Amino acid sequence: MNTENFKKKLEEEKKVLLEELGTLGKKNPEDGEWEATVEGSTEADRNDLGDRFEDFEEKSSMINPLEKRLTDVTDALKKIQDGTYGICETSGEPIEEERLEANPAARTCIKHME
Ligand SMILES: [Zn+2]
Repeated sequence: MNTENFKKKLEEEKKVLLEELGTLGKKNPEDGEWEATVEGSTEADRNDLGDRFEDFEEKSSMINPLEKRLTDVTDALKKIQDGTYGICETSGEPIEEERLEANPAARTCIKHME
């Protein structure tokens, strides 16, 4: 399979995901997890704690799906590098090309979609 086209799409998507995540939070260098950052979280804003908590919760709920998607995209890029791209993680069979067109980070074939 020619993976060049998928690789380009995945790299493009990774860039966008990292930009979006960067506006919501920052990556914890210790565990590699993304955490929401809240603006103005200085001592002076202490009485806004409720607001900030809400902001934090909202950003966290936006980060989660982006982070999950980033993992899928990063894993797919790794597979391209390893030469195992386009193989269903459940059955080990090749993933349909049309499925990869629709979602280049797909982990399974159409039959084993969640
Ligand atoms: Zn399968």
